[in-house]
Amino acid sequence: MKQEQQNCIFCKIIRGEVPSTKVYEDEKIIAFLDIRPITEGHTLVVPKAHTSGLLDTPGQTLAELVFAAQKIGQALVTSLGAEGFNLTCNNGKASGQVVFHLHFHLIPRRASDGLSSWPHREYALGEAEKMAEKIKSALQ
Ligand code: AMP
Ligand code: ZN
Repeated sequence: MKQEQQNCIFCKIIRGEVPSTKVYEDEKIIAFLDIRPITEGHTLVVPKAHTSGLLDTPGQTLAELVFAAQKIGQALVTSLGAEGFNLTCNNGKASGQVVFHLHFHLIPRRASDGLSSWPHREYALGEAEKMAEKIKSALQ
């Protein structure tokens, strides 16, 4: 086993070496409650195969992860009476990622939960088009 998998906290949870409050498991995916929840029921959905984030993960694994996130998201709504949920995935240190094993956050939301959304800014004239050109050039 690679060193990074040996030391990875989520790999340790998957191997059963570290306890977790599991809510779902199948052959490819595990989901457990976040140890420091943003809201009650905050769940992490995690592929069992170690990759560090979205960019180094095969498409098949991403498909399995999204499918499980949909199923668990529905369960949060049904079982906890959540009015909605955020599905987020931090990628890279600058984004706030601290565990470098790919995971989706499912954060149950209520209109009354008092959490605000991210601040928005405005584009200056022509700025959006320049931005889009840069992004498109990397997609060709
Ligand atoms: P991220 O910023 O996306 O890397 O978030 C990592 C998340 O993992 C944080 O919300 C932590 O609270 C959570 N976390 C870290 N260690 C554990 C653990 N042992 N069990 C459950 N959640 C964890
Ligand atoms: Zn890992």
